[in-house]
Amino acid sequence: NVASPNTEAPIALELESVSKRYGETTAVDDVSLSVFEGEFFTLVGPSGCGKTTTLRLIAGFETPTEGVLSFGGEDVTGVPPEDRDIGVVFQNYALFPHMTVGENVSYGLQFADAPGGVSDEQRVSELLELVDLAGMEARKPDQLSGGQQQRVAIARALAPGPDVLLLDEPMSALDAQLRERLRVQVKAIQQELEITTIYVTHDQEEALAVSDRVAVMRGGTPEQIAPPQAIYRRPETRFVAEFVGDNNVFTGTVTSVDETTGKLPQAQIDIGPETVTIAVAEHEIAIGDEVTFCIRPEYLRVDGGQERSSGQRLSDQPSANATTATVVSAEFLGETTRVHLEWYDRELLVRTHDPLSGEVEVAFEPEAAHVVDVS
Ligand code: ATP
Repeated sequence: NVASPNTEAPIALELESVSKRYGETTAVDDVSLSVFEGEFFTLVGPSGCGKTTTLRLIAGFETPTEGVLSFGGEDVTGVPPEDRDIGVVFQNYALFPHMTVGENVSYGLQFADAPGGVSDEQRVSELLELVDLAGMEARKPDQLSGGQQQRVAIARALAPGPDVLLLDEPMSALDAQLRERLRVQVKAIQQELEITTIYVTHDQEEALAVSDRVAVMRGGTPEQIAPPQAIYRRPETRFVAEFVGDNNVFTGTVTSVDETTGKLPQAQIDIGPETVTIAVAEHEIAIGDEVTFCIRPEYLRVDGGQERSSGQRLSDQPSANATTATVVSAEFLGETTRVHLEWYDRELLVRTHDPLSGEVEVAFEPEAAHVVDVS
């Protein structure tokens, strides 16, 4: 599961069976992963899953209890942070408040290799231009917005020209709108410099939006490492399916398997109140197996009875799986509405453009289901 669009690129850094324990707590549990040069790699997961500790190990602020860490094929496990080619940006801006923006950024320059004919002022001005703060040298940090302060922190981290940029929840102190703007800017900076970047966030939407690959972590270990589209469309575990985006997850028993219909083999699954037909793709499935599968809300078709613009009703379209459910609540999200339905004793999540109430028809195609587990 380490396939990547960048697998042609050389490996920038690698963790081999890295663990970090604090007494009884295993913060990072036997992690092996590679990050490619120029890749935007994100560690995402709930609080306590070990993302920050993994980043601190990469930075050298922590030493692994076990395992090997290498940069560009060279073992750096025992190398202190100042001798690793890294720039680090933390959650709290950590700018020097008494220094100007220019002084903060040039502070980072003292760690740079001998400058190649470019004056410090010129380099500071280039860095500020890169983070979209041209001409702000003389400002003090308290004269900047939170997002601007974080961009100064990024400029300072980039000043020595590091090979790897490490970002630990750099947006979490910002409001939602600033966060979205800053993430676009961070991505643009990363792409302009083509700098290997490791990003830590608990925000799965942010992770999908900026990354080349995402590691979804749980209990100190990545459960899946894949490009955002694969994480969203083909989660490999129930945890990933539920942590990333909304999902409807079902578990049931296989009552029959049909290899002959359509393009994909299908199976009938008894999920309690009803039996449904799902496509099982490449999974080996036999009668009696227990199968866990998920269906994204946007793949559940729902019809409240009103005529569609096409003049078609849901019930006019044949579907392998059709049922009825009751609207419990709806959240208007702007572009769509997230509707909570009661279906027997459980909840279904759907997305809709039309207002819905009362009893509704729900249907899905076998191919809308994605199997995450067979046992
Ligand atoms: P958050 O999003 O809340 O920051 P995280 O995913 O970054 O969480 P870590 O900070 O890496 O998680 O922590 C992983 C586990 O290791 C947690 O159970 C945490 O309590 C524990 N831990 C982290 N640092 C230490 C430490 N210095 N001493 C003891 N336990 C620690």
